Amino acid sequence: MVEDTELLLALLNSRPIKDGVEHDALSDDRAAREWSTAHGGTGTPREAENLRHLRAELTRVVLGEAPATVLAETLDGTYQRPRLSEDGLSWELVTEPDARLSARVVLVWAWVTENLPRRLRPCGNEECRLFLLDRSKPNKARWCSMATCGNRMKARRHYERSRGAASAE
Ligand SMILES: [Zn+2]
Repeated sequence: MVEDTELLLALLNSRPIKDGVEHDALSDDRAAREWSTAHGGTGTPREAENLRHLRAELTRVVLGEAPATVLAETLDGTYQRPRLSEDGLSWELVTEPDARLSARVVLVWAWVTENLPRRLRPCGNEECRLFLLDRSKPNKARWCSMATCGNRMKARRHYERSRGAASAE
């Protein structure tokens, strides 16, 4: 569960800009309910509030604009309880139901920070707001997606190069 990096990226990337327009999956409580229940949440307005708050703080942390400690309050009241069954020992996450999804996101973020350092970063397209988690060996991925931002930035560079060449003549 701690390695659920999809969940981390899903929250960080839940406010994409498409053709200059923001599409916020947590824009109102109805939209948020759909998003959070799809990710194992309760779907309550209170949970939506927690997620919006966490997303804002987490974005600042990943961009290096805020210290990681701003995420600490999201884990207030959260603990892990050992459970012994026939399958052996497992750890159960204990939280208030509306705080559970946010707590899970912070735990995944902490796991990524420790195990995949310097691999979570913003897309290299300044007009894009998405983040990427680069698991490739060279760790040089720049775009959230090659199909969208990668090709767009390549086309722009090509355009600027050809324009530069034209004005130099
Ligand atoms: Zn992008």
